[in-house]
Amino acid sequence: MIAMPIYEYRCRACSHVTTVLVQGYNAPTDLSCEECGSGDLKRIISQTNYHSSPADRLSSYDPKARQTEGFYRDSRNIGVHAEHMLNQAGVKPTEEFRNKLEKLRTDPSSVIKDSDD
Ligand SMILES: [Zn+2]
Repeated sequence: MIAMPIYEYRCRACSHVTTVLVQGYNAPTDLSCEECGSGDLKRIISQTNYHSSPADRLSSYDPKARQTEGFYRDSRNIGVHAEHMLNQAGVKPTEEFRNKLEKLRTDPSSVIKDSDD
C-alpha cells in the first residue's frame, strides 16, 4: 500500500458502495454508482492509510512503486526511503538520524533553516 486516501460512496438509490482511490488531495467529482449508474452518491468516511503508524509505513513501503504526489506532500513520509535502504543494508538508524527524521517530519522548515547556517 502507498499513501493514498480511499473514498467510499454509498449509492442512495441501490446502497451499493463504490470505492475510489484518490490521486492527490482533490475529491473526485462526477461520480456515479458502478452498480446502477445513479449519480446520487453519499460520501462515507472510511479509514485511509494516512492513519498507519510509522512502522506500518516502513513495512509497506515499496521502493519500486511509483509514488503519488500526495506521498511526497505528506511530510510523515519523509525519510521512509532512507529508512528502507538502511533496513535493507541491515543498518540500525542512529539516534541522530532518527531525531533528524522526526524533525523533518514535524517541522520541515526548521531543518531547511538549520542547513543554511
Ligand atoms: Zn446504485
